[in-house]
Amino acid sequence: MEPAGMANSWGSLLQEQQQLEELAQQAVDRALAEGVLLRTPQEPSSSDVVSYAPFTLFPSLVPGALLEQAYAVQMDFNLLVDAVSQNAAFLERTLSSTIKRDTFTARLFDIHKQVLEEGIAQTVFLGLNRSDYMFQRNADGSPALKQIEINTISASFGGLASRTPAVHRHVLSVLGKTKEAAKILSNNPSKGLALGIAKAWELYGSAKALVLLIAQEKERNIFDQRAIENELLARNIHVIRRRFEDVSEKGSLDQDRKLFVDGQEIAVVYFRDGYMPSQYNLQNWGARLLLERSCAVKCPDIATQLAGTKKVQQELSRVGVLEALLPGQPEAVARLRATFAGLYSLDMGGEGDQAIAEALAAPSRFVLKPQREGGGNNLYGEEMTQALERLKDSEERASYILMEKIEPEPFGNCLLRPGSPVRVSQCISELGIFGVYVRQGKTLVMNRHVGHLLRTKAIEHADGGVAAGVAVLDNPYPA
Ligand code: ADP
Ligand code: MG
Repeated sequence: MEPAGMANSWGSLLQEQQQLEELAQQAVDRALAEGVLLRTPQEPSSSDVVSYAPFTLFPSLVPGALLEQAYAVQMDFNLLVDAVSQNAAFLERTLSSTIKRDTFTARLFDIHKQVLEEGIAQTVFLGLNRSDYMFQRNADGSPALKQIEINTISASFGGLASRTPAVHRHVLSVLGKTKEAAKILSNNPSKGLALGIAKAWELYGSAKALVLLIAQEKERNIFDQRAIENELLARNIHVIRRRFEDVSEKGSLDQDRKLFVDGQEIAVVYFRDGYMPSQYNLQNWGARLLLERSCAVKCPDIATQLAGTKKVQQELSRVGVLEALLPGQPEAVARLRATFAGLYSLDMGGEGDQAIAEALAAPSRFVLKPQREGGGNNLYGEEMTQALERLKDSEERASYILMEKIEPEPFGNCLLRPGSPVRVSQCISELGIFGVYVRQGKTLVMNRHVGHLLRTKAIEHADGGVAAGVAVLDNPYPA
């Protein structure tokens, strides 16, 4: 690679329109052949007609040292999430102002309280998470790894990310760039995620019990989920897919709080639904409570979902909090803190007032985040300013946090999407690392990183992931 670095990674290749179009056709056909697939927006409940998941024509440069740093801190993040999920006092304190104003978080918290009062029946805990980062451009031009968020529920694209390296190797091979093709890292998060589920299933200890995948009615990203299901089936672990509605109608607990659905015992509940308000009605909330009360391994259990809220992320960045949650682990604390961007509470009081004043004075340096997942919820620029003006004297502001805006250095790449012309865009990337841990009682029996996801989007979009139609799948090209 030319030392010019991030800005012009594939340099002259991006100049030749005809070559780009031919390459794109080859890349798309290879993506389809590899199973880099999504259902279509028109037919989100059927696999009769499918298309390719959007992806970049070329892999994108990622500094090798930052990739290593992100991998190295993943086990620390696993420990941290697990510690937060077990610390009811910390969760209660941290979320107390937020749940007064945010009904979604409040409902999750209610279930958490109910389960604690009844006593937790679950003894095996499984975390499948994905910690996401961007590469902040420092004043001296060097890039730094900064965490955007950690996803503790329904962290997706581990399946499709296992299939994209072959596509980028293909593109580089077509160009005769054999050495470069060999630098694309192999990646198999779906296998690692399945290993975590398999371990939890084994520790649950009932050979006939099943894995229950809580699925959405309309699921475009089914092939991503199937990749994990297929890995489990290869280990003789059977998965059933059901909606919250099905659980509500056909689910029950026995006197030991074992979970049964359609008369079959469930060892592990894997949520690929239930992370946003629109996914719940009264019936679904009832089903969620039933699942949480059971002794089945929930991935995640309700406390671990709460540990992934933006409010918790902000609170973790406060002086002394990591030290209290991970006592005697100063090296882990230092690795974690090095990835934190500026995070600010908007709770009523002087600290929140000051954060708001700073954001209003320099809106381009901040992002306003509500307690939501799934992309498209954050506010930037003029919209953020208006929201802050409206919220500033209201307790409602406590349901948001303010975050430093990360400004990576843009580079050129082509974002390939069904129905869109092939053209070069100025882009930025977000790196995710998948983490898996399993705990039995107080004993951690698995803690590992299991692969990565690179997503790339055009710079004109402030927010949004692949499912939101903004970012596309990519691979890191270690530089
Ligand atoms: P969600 O839970 O909706 O995925 P995120 O915090 O991941 O929320 O934000 C969604 C998207 O917004 C990210 O994928 C990223 O593109 C952008 N984003 C979020 N936080 C920042 C930030 N601090 N700086 C720059 N971009 C951000
Ligand atoms: Mg995100």
